[in-house]
Amino acid sequence: MAQQSITLIGGGLVGALLAQQLARRGFAVDVYEKRPDPRRAGFIGGRSINLALAERGLQALRTAGLAADVLQRAVMMRGRMVHTRDGRSGLQRYGVDDSEVIWSVSRAALNMLLLDAAETSGVRFHFGQSLVAADFDARRIRLADEQGKERSIDAGVLIGADGAGSALRAAMHAYAPLGERIEPLGHAYKELEIPPAGTLPASLLGESGGHDQFALEPHALHIWPRGGYMCIALPNTEGSFTVTLFLPGQGPHPSFATLPDTAAAQAFFREDFPDLLPLIPDFAQDYDSHPVGTLSTLYLDRWHLDGRALLIGDAAHAIVPFHGQGMNCGFEDTVVLAALLAESPEDTAEVFAEFQRIRQPNANAIAAMALENYIEMRDSVADPHYLAKRELGALLAEQAPGHFMARYRMVTFTHLPYAYAFERGRAQDQLLQQLLRGSTDAGSVDLDAAVTALKATLPPLPSLRHG
Ligand code: FAD
Repeated sequence: MAQQSITLIGGGLVGALLAQQLARRGFAVDVYEKRPDPRRAGFIGGRSINLALAERGLQALRTAGLAADVLQRAVMMRGRMVHTRDGRSGLQRYGVDDSEVIWSVSRAALNMLLLDAAETSGVRFHFGQSLVAADFDARRIRLADEQGKERSIDAGVLIGADGAGSALRAAMHAYAPLGERIEPLGHAYKELEIPPAGTLPASLLGESGGHDQFALEPHALHIWPRGGYMCIALPNTEGSFTVTLFLPGQGPHPSFATLPDTAAAQAFFREDFPDLLPLIPDFAQDYDSHPVGTLSTLYLDRWHLDGRALLIGDAAHAIVPFHGQGMNCGFEDTVVLAALLAESPEDTAEVFAEFQRIRQPNANAIAAMALENYIEMRDSVADPHYLAKRELGALLAEQAPGHFMARYRMVTFTHLPYAYAFERGRAQDQLLQQLLRGSTDAGSVDLDAAVTALKATLPPLPSLRHG
């Protein structure tokens, strides 16, 4: 029997991992990628320089046999290091030990590793080939090369992993509307860089003189929460940190509109991030040359065109980055889709419908939680009500681990469906609020009574054992 052929649009993180898994299961996979091969041409751009990899993404990489290789190139992050305005900082650990940590990975290194793995599994990549149109009736697609020269080719079953601005999605939507809604966040971001400690004056590195080659504690996700906006920084293996400033795009100060030039931006950092600014010696150059990125959530009613075309990853469900789950969610997608396709390779209409049935409620849930997490990160990590709930939650999780688990933990360190984490998290939050009755002192709550109330209100958590 001829191999089922799949035409994948986009060889980014999700496209490359999906391609590898499908090729390993015997599919003939061709990937058309707009950009040149990053392994030859050097990696161009990408929207964030590093990403947080959590358990869901890691599990997908395990399934693909790639987790160990990726972790070798990653920096462990044990918790959030919160930097207050007065220059103090403290680590809020994710778990009691290093079994619950997240990992900072370079987008470029991860993409190249995935491309290598997919190619080794037999995937054919066609770089510098941009999808411009699709004829779903004739099963042909039109591609443009880097000079803009176009050609048409026959396509197999089409899968779009071409990101938030997906060209395949646009073609599908023009053929049969997908019920697309794009909700802009109104906040935008800009990336800056803290170089390795060796390149900074010793006087800036505090009494410790830095942390080996890092200017800040390397094993943490750093946050400078400032209410309506924030900076974060994730470590890179070579000792630098990628800093991201999140700020309203328009509106009263501070917004990107009120920081039109580096002098204004520098004055703002001097005021709001005084401990961070000196660690960014090329601030003016970074601020001038790095673009302002916009952030939106994408919702679609339909992810597929019967059995002919399907969207996956950001092309189907781009979300805001505040839970660090966009890639993790897309990686989880690839495992589900590859398994469904392997089971019924001929019945793509059924497989695509089933994929959407399984994944769409979960994509909607992580979209909502990512939006909520922006408020939590920029605001609540320094808020006493939030901290009291967090502390009481930790006590309940310790006393009744079968009944209470922080939502962040369900999302980040388990494979419980996102939709379950969302609903359960909401119910737990309501209970914590009732128990605290507005107090900011978790110690004032009668813990035995709280555990009794918890068990009376919520069913046990599902088993966390996975196959
Ligand atoms: P993309 O990574 O966008 O890849 C799409 C690919 O398709 C690209 O290679 C592109 O060149 C190609 N392409 C585009 N158009 C065409 C075309 N017409 N023809 C052919 N090819 C095309 N997620 C996390 O899990 N953790 C994080 O910490 C995290 N941090 C983030 C920080 C920021 C600031 C942002 C913006 C996002 C972050 N994300 C994070 C989300 C993550 O980047 C995305 O979810 C992930 O990149 C999605 O992968 P993808 O392959 O679906 O899309």
